[in-house]
Amino acid sequence: MRIGQGIDVHAFLEPGSANHIMLGGVEISHDRGVLAHSDGDVLIHALMDALLGALGLPDIGHQFPDSDPKFSGANSMSLLASVVALMDQAALRIENLDATVLLEAPKLVPYREAMIQSIAQALGCEQERVGLKATTTEKLGFIGRGEGISAQVVVLLTSDPK
Ligand SMILES: [Zn+2]
Repeated sequence: MRIGQGIDVHAFLEPGSANHIMLGGVEISHDRGVLAHSDGDVLIHALMDALLGALGLPDIGHQFPDSDPKFSGANSMSLLASVVALMDQAALRIENLDATVLLEAPKLVPYREAMIQSIAQALGCEQERVGLKATTTEKLGFIGRGEGISAQVVVLLTSDPK
């Protein structure tokens, strides 16, 4: 068994700056985009860092540097695919993962199932292995003031066959 955890944060841009954000590879309607070099998918970024941590590898900033124009506007799901390839190479697979998105708005409930489906498909695991929660911070701090969004993910990998 290998455990990993990942955390990511992105700042929101001003209202009217976009019509959606990306979370878990799913388009979520929102009038504020996020400030990011890539598509700013905070949930997938935290997931990649959790996987890399479990594999004992350096973080996504090392794997996909901001300074490399190749990753400008990058689709986070395709970056995730290359991290999943590293997991496969190590002959490990997902036992389960648990993710929490911290944000004041928008509400994620209508998108929850689509996000779980998207993540499970990307990881090649059953949907039952993917835990996904969202919480506000009761108006406290930068998340509570709507200045940004954060995600935390823990993963457990196993070398046991399915
Ligand atoms: Zn990020």
